[in-house]
Amino acid sequence: MPNDDMRIEPQRAKQLAGNISNVYQRIEKVASGRKVRLIAVSKLKPANDILALHHQEPHKHLDFGENYAQELTEKAGLLPKSIRWHMIGALQTNKCKPLAEQVSNLYCVSSVDTAKKADALEKGRAALAEKQELSSKLRVLVQVNTSGEAEKSGVEPGETAELCRHVREKCPHLQLAGVMTIGAIARSQQAATGEGVNEDFVALRETRDKVGKELGFDAGELELSMGMSSDFEAAIGQGSDEVRVGTTIFGDRPAKKDARVKNETTDEKP
Ligand SMILES: *Cc1c(COP(=O)(O)O)cnc(C)c1O
Repeated sequence: MPNDDMRIEPQRAKQLAGNISNVYQRIEKVASGRKVRLIAVSKLKPANDILALHHQEPHKHLDFGENYAQELTEKAGLLPKSIRWHMIGALQTNKCKPLAEQVSNLYCVSSVDTAKKADALEKGRAALAEKQELSSKLRVLVQVNTSGEAEKSGVEPGETAELCRHVREKCPHLQLAGVMTIGAIARSQQAATGEGVNEDFVALRETRDKVGKELGFDAGELELSMGMSSDFEAAIGQGSDEVRVGTTIFGDRPAKKDARVKNETTDEKP
């Protein structure tokens, strides 16, 4: 029964509310009055966890991040339209158009690293605009591979301006909102132990400033999305405008094969 699937356990809701409130406080402490967006990364977590935080009073949480296009689309179909969805995971080009067309409350795609993906998102959003009135453009962040690791997605720092220009000039339904990095785990751990700055965060900031210079606008218009559970405070200290926090809010994630969007209710269990 749909209602049972989306039932919010009071105990769980309380735990989540406590966890996110902790994160808000930690952010506030280091943000020194700057506004920093918190994306609650809900990948592989059930939809009713998201609902619990979105319905929480007095601070309804709006921004949720997902890594898999199919999971995001499924959750968006079940949950209120007032949620702002962020696609933060590696994106396949062929998933871009359907995602942008099917999820009207997709707020931002944080992982754009090729012109082809930008074009596909543009097509999807344009198709959606034909069907319904849209009040805003789809925000996109260009993902930058700041650590130079071969297995990491993201555009090279030196090619970032070109991709940013493409989005600004060729994609009228998209808004270039900023740049994003994941960075190397080793650097994050080093910086977290207090041994100086995280080079990935320095590199993202420098890349952002260069984009502004090359394209001829104030780089401050572009947000920096950097920082996760292990390093969000350090990232904010280095200028992050948006942090993506999963584990600290929702706890450890299940394996992908064990993840369920809808919770199995007690009476369904064998
Ligand atoms: C999963 C994920 C996060 C959240 O990671 P946690 O360590 O659980 O906070 C942030 N950003 C991206 C791109 C992710 O894939």
